[in-house]
Amino acid sequence: MNMMMKGLTYTEQGTTAWNNYLKQLDKVAPYLGELSERLDMLRRPKRSLIVDVPVIMDDGTVQHFEGYRVQHNLTRGPGKGGVRFHPDVNLDEVMALSAWMTIKCAALNLPFGGAKGGVRVDPSQLSKRELERLTRRYTAEINLIIGPQKDIPAPDVGTNPQIMAWMMDTFSMNAGSTITGVVTGKPVHLGGSLGRSKATGRGVFISGREVAQQIGLDLKAARVCVQGFGNVGSEAALLFQENGSKVICVQDHSATLYQKEGIDIKKLLEYSNAYHKIQGFSTSDEISASAFWTIPAEVFIPAALEGVINTQVAQNIQTKMILEGANGPTLTESDEILSERHITVVPDVICNAGGVTVSYFEWVQDLASYFWTEEEINQRMDASMKNAVQDVWQKSVQAGCSLRTAAYILACERILMARQERGIYPG
Ligand code: NAD
Repeated sequence: MNMMMKGLTYTEQGTTAWNNYLKQLDKVAPYLGELSERLDMLRRPKRSLIVDVPVIMDDGTVQHFEGYRVQHNLTRGPGKGGVRFHPDVNLDEVMALSAWMTIKCAALNLPFGGAKGGVRVDPSQLSKRELERLTRRYTAEINLIIGPQKDIPAPDVGTNPQIMAWMMDTFSMNAGSTITGVVTGKPVHLGGSLGRSKATGRGVFISGREVAQQIGLDLKAARVCVQGFGNVGSEAALLFQENGSKVICVQDHSATLYQKEGIDIKKLLEYSNAYHKIQGFSTSDEISASAFWTIPAEVFIPAALEGVINTQVAQNIQTKMILEGANGPTLTESDEILSERHITVVPDVICNAGGVTVSYFEWVQDLASYFWTEEEINQRMDASMKNAVQDVWQKSVQAGCSLRTAAYILACERILMARQERGIYPG
């Protein structure tokens, strides 16, 4: 095991995820008054742990994987953030993702700091037993710094409720008692929360509904395009359709479907659940992938990949509102173009925060050992997202800035004020 602290300014590589985060902080600094003097605290992670994860493979050989857990900031509460299993995972990316969790939790006013973890591995290349051994050893390696009062992991790309169950079990075995609150996104019968799997898509809809009211956009007359038909995109598409919008275009890794009169999202969902793709659902409606961003529609929901709204897309997209279901779909330079074109971008740190909000509810329920109904969860999430969007909207009007900058201002103010009140130990 290897403990590492890094004092970080811009790295030599220039365009890394961590650099993008630092640029976003720089944009916010002028709005923070005296608090900006303390902003350096957010320019470095509090704690970065790099671990070696040896795994006995099914053929008896031992393979070593590199794992990480970064706690970017813990000023407002325990760390919160997912665990990613992916071949591209690296320290820079995990640091950036942990920092965005700090901002997201503070923007939503959840009592958490930001954290993130990951293992550089392609989980599709492992057998179920190998995946379990990898998960358990990774958990044992980061065991020192996680816990319900310290840092609470959750699923992210390449991980799922089963992996959370193994993490919870490993942590509990080491502690000698069952501790459900150490991770969220667990299976429901193991202390998971009802409503968690649909929460992010639901949150995308709620934030869209709230911002549409502010900009005078009638969602019942709106056309919607959705990129990504997974957990986030499919639920958001369904809710927009149920509320009267026409979902005219859906894209996933396999195909792009366009139907002027609106696609039947319920049927598409049944199809994609059965075939794990949308290709073949209605071949006459298939168009080229590159045509996706050229379709005129009042609402666009990128809910798949990072960096898809490049400057060319930003210059040409014909829309009124972009709802960032994915993390980081809009490049920093594109933000300025969209703002000049009066296109409203509801930023990821607010728009896709429904998931972490229900993760917070899961943690609260686990600590209390008392569980709420799905209706209660949805009502609480709706109220929480509505408040957050209203706060961010008001801040953007007051400061004369984009919703993204407003969300960062609010988050940084909350964190830096908390640090000011706590002081620096030892004084
Ligand atoms: P998912 O794996 O369930 O779905 C991803 C979707 O993207 C799939 O439909 C896939 O076909 C599609 N896709 C992949 N490559 C594509 C391509 N080249 N072009 C078009 N579509 C493509 O993932 P998810 O959980 O829905 O997450 C989507 C995004 O939302 C990610 O950026 C994730 O980080 C973010 N997010 C997810 C949650 C959550 O709770 N699931 C929370 C916050 C943010």
